[in-house]
Amino acid sequence: MNPPESFFRRRSRAQRETPAVSSFVQDASPALWLGGALRNLIMCAPLAWAGVVAGMLFATHVLAFELPGQARAATTANVRVAFTPEDDVAGQMVDAIAHARRQVLVQAFSFTHDQIARALLDAHRRGVEVKLIADREQTEKMDRGQVSGLARGGIPVWLDGDHQSAHNKVIVIDAGTPSAMVITGSFNFTRAAQHKNAENVVFISGNETLAQTYAQNWQRHLAHSQPLNIH
Ligand SMILES: [Zn+2]
Repeated sequence: MNPPESFFRRRSRAQRETPAVSSFVQDASPALWLGGALRNLIMCAPLAWAGVVAGMLFATHVLAFELPGQARAATTANVRVAFTPEDDVAGQMVDAIAHARRQVLVQAFSFTHDQIARALLDAHRRGVEVKLIADREQTEKMDRGQVSGLARGGIPVWLDGDHQSAHNKVIVIDAGTPSAMVITGSFNFTRAAQHKNAENVVFISGNETLAQTYAQNWQRHLAHSQPLNIH
């Protein structure tokens, strides 16, 4: 077993950015410390959300991924982070879904955000395979949820009641392709998550293995979920 901190290993802090610079700006500097063996990309992370480090709004990180059941391997990924309520996480999700070419797999706990739902329906209508697993209890008790509307719109939906909470909030885009992206974090697909809560999300691209791992986890939950049939 490896220590938890090895999953996201912070190697360095680097240059400051001005507050006007988008939190999604990526610095593609290679990981100099690893002699080229690991070519990790560097990201900027806004820290202003909590005032954790006064006067420092961005930090630069090098990431080393460690995937379940796999030896620690040299990996690369482009990661951008966003925090609500400051950043438009929902808008970034909508944009990512709009650029999906082949498939969008979603795991949702709470889903009320109409624009994210609309982005999924738009993707479905243009021929992208869109599939959703949602928490059963949460879906059934939310009168204004989007899940049933997605099912009515033709998107295959399953309800997962196999856990106290099916609490994943994950969007996997185009797994198995070079443009694969994983979007995950604390952000439920709700307006409260965007406007009322303090949430975090990471958008991870450039790592096909990671996307496949999330897609496989999606499939594991599908195996014990039941289809939502809308009459
Ligand atoms: Zn499950």
